[in-house]
Amino acid sequence: MKPKALSAVMLISVMLLLGCSKPQTTQPAPTTDAHLGIPIKEHLVLAVLWQQHAAEYRALCYQAYNVAKQRIDWVLANHDSDLPLAIIADIDETVLDNSPYSSRMILDDINYSRPTWYEWGRKESAKPVPGALDFYRYVADQGITVFYVSNRYQEQLTETINNLQHHGFPFAQAAHVLLKTETSGKEPRRQQILTEHEVVMLIGDNLSDFHQDFDDRSSAERNHTAKKMQQQFGSRYIVLPNPMYGDWETDGLYEGRYDWSEAEKAAMRRSKLLPD
Ligand SMILES: [Mg+2]
Repeated sequence: MKPKALSAVMLISVMLLLGCSKPQTTQPAPTTDAHLGIPIKEHLVLAVLWQQHAAEYRALCYQAYNVAKQRIDWVLANHDSDLPLAIIADIDETVLDNSPYSSRMILDDINYSRPTWYEWGRKESAKPVPGALDFYRYVADQGITVFYVSNRYQEQLTETINNLQHHGFPFAQAAHVLLKTETSGKEPRRQQILTEHEVVMLIGDNLSDFHQDFDDRSSAERNHTAKKMQQQFGSRYIVLPNPMYGDWETDGLYEGRYDWSEAEKAAMRRSKLLPD
């Protein structure tokens, strides 16, 4: 090979190597975008079926709201705050069940996208999470204010309020439904509520619904912080089950990156299984 041709081959090789490089993950990921011959949401099927069919899912939701009610009764009997009492609740998979949207993604073989999420929201047909409606009506009857702090988009405010009102959730009005603006972190919205209220409970399916120390963290960090806050769960923090999605998947399994190929995501999922 002539020297000129040789250097051209070397240059192309270096460019290819640079183009293929990605930050290190726990396991080398495949370089192909192929879907491995299976639908891209196949891994989600069992999680959605569990939420939609398992009595254990319903029982866990009832358990969460039963514990929440017992805690509220204790707070009402023991608090000495001059400020009005309030609860901060997330919406999706905490108050409203969006498993039909996940079912649709699986059947249509598509990933989450803002247009399809908006389309689902506009239907205003999400049903209450088991136990939720009775609980929020109960706390409202006790004079406790409810704020819904959700990372639904601002454009979804009207349909979100309509959906909540349709089922009879209390405080389903703009002043009490705080959706995502410029940041998905919920701490600024929590602080805003805390200026005029004594927040006695936070309810959510994602640990970032409770404390900013869970924002944008790895699985190891999230688990470490959960251990540190162990005493809060079942008292100040009430957790609902969500096997379908959450920061445990995006920040945890996929390490906070959204540009993995389907094959890379599949490889990462398998690489993080912990066999004996
Ligand atoms: Mg949620």
